[in-house]
Amino acid sequence: MAEDFDVIVVGAGPAGSMAALAAARGGWSVCLIERGPFPGSKNMYGGVVYPRILDQVIDRWWEDVPVQRFITRRQTMVMESDRALTVDYRTAAWGAPPYNGLTTYRSDFDRWLATKATEAGATLVCSTTVTGLLLEHDRVVGVRTDRPEGELRAKVVIACDGVNSFLAKEAGLYANFSADHLTLGVKEVLRFDPATIEERFGVTGREGCDIEILGATPGVLGGGFCYTNYDTVAIGIIAKLPSLAAAKVRPEDLIANLKAHPAIEPLVRGGELVEYNAHMIPEGGLKAMPQVVTDGMVVCGDAAHLTLAAGIWLEGVNFAMGSGLAAGEAAAEAISAGDWTAAGLGVYRTKINSTFVLKDHEKLQHIPELVLSERVQFAYPALICDLVEELFTVRNPTPKPGGIKVLLDKARANDVKLRHLAIDGLKALRSFR
Ligand SMILES: Cc1cc2nc3c(=O)[nH]c(=O)nc-3n(C[C@H](O)[C@H](O)[C@H](O)COP(=O)(O)OP(=O)(O)OC[C@H]3O[C@@H](n4cnc5c(N)ncnc54)[C@H](O)[C@@H]3O)c2cc1C
Repeated sequence: MAEDFDVIVVGAGPAGSMAALAAARGGWSVCLIERGPFPGSKNMYGGVVYPRILDQVIDRWWEDVPVQRFITRRQTMVMESDRALTVDYRTAAWGAPPYNGLTTYRSDFDRWLATKATEAGATLVCSTTVTGLLLEHDRVVGVRTDRPEGELRAKVVIACDGVNSFLAKEAGLYANFSADHLTLGVKEVLRFDPATIEERFGVTGREGCDIEILGATPGVLGGGFCYTNYDTVAIGIIAKLPSLAAAKVRPEDLIANLKAHPAIEPLVRGGELVEYNAHMIPEGGLKAMPQVVTDGMVVCGDAAHLTLAAGIWLEGVNFAMGSGLAAGEAAAEAISAGDWTAAGLGVYRTKINSTFVLKDHEKLQHIPELVLSERVQFAYPALICDLVEELFTVRNPTPKPGGIKVLLDKARANDVKLRHLAIDGLKALRSFR
């Protein structure tokens, strides 16, 4: 039976639009299916897109991307009860093309990227949910949708349907799916006058600030973030699902707690709540990744568990776009070569293997586990704050203590064994080499 399209892409998030764009530019007919009324209407995230991958496909993308602010100030904060240590980096270089990171609303960004796919020739079909795969002899040959007579056939289906992808599940590609590999991200968006944001975060014009926080979720394995948009601030937490369930804490209480912390309260005081939402994040890294290729189908972005959540980095949109680009190109090449079996589509795996998409995951594969470990989450923030407090507390006439002695004393006081500090330090260093 003839196909309706050469390629069907399911989900018009960053992975899907990039895949559709690449396959359409490869000269093939592409249908991009999105369940929401428009791309991005159903999507949420923290707020920062790292755009390097856009350079490869959209010339001078920054001239029309729907930006809120370009990140020029990046902070990593370690917090504990009422104390915090912040590493604060700012550079004017990130405030000029080609830019390092930008805050943007997903409803704007996803719609913009989908338009690039349609300009390349893809057909975008919204308000349509893919309800299942069409299979012939175990080979994916299309999708079923919730439209009347809604079956569509294609040579290649690209599954970009996000975390917990039921297409990948239906194709039997998730061998190792577990709640342990998922975190729940919850975010509030607070409105301010832009001048207030500039004053509080020390930025001007379209400059923005990104704060990643360790120790933001007391009693729960997780983290926090705070990002500036033009006239709003996104503040949120991320919590490992089993830990959140075991602690019996409500996510909104964790955000309220974070907003009340003395290091954060002055930044978000008086903001008008304009949005509250939650979404799952696949944080398991390499360990949790499904098989990404089968006969007639490849899997990208969050559906392939490609979000990189490695402590000081929370990056998913760039990994989604990078894998989507590779998938679209791979589908186009496989169709040109007349082989879109798993073997023909294997070029997708080769492509992601040779770029940051899998290389970063391989390099940092032990970091998600380390960052979400009880020691890093619950013991180290207090140890770090104790250490810094002791070093900077002036006790004249008592002379200053030796740094090593303070470390040993504070490690003992926080029940941290030096052996564990060394093991964790080595693990981190090995990952960053
Ligand atoms: C709280 C939080 C904070 C985050 N912060 C950041 C950040 O600051 N920076 C960053 O880079 N990443 C961040 N991420 C991760 C990032 O959001 C994801 O990695 C990224 O959105 C993945 O893109 P995707 O295209 O694979 O999937 P998604 O963005 O989830 O898109 C999937 C699309 O498929 C559609 N869809 C799903 N099922 C169907 C179906 N059956 N039929 C039709 N359409 C369907 C959905 O409507 C959606 O449009 C964050 C995530 C969360 C939850």
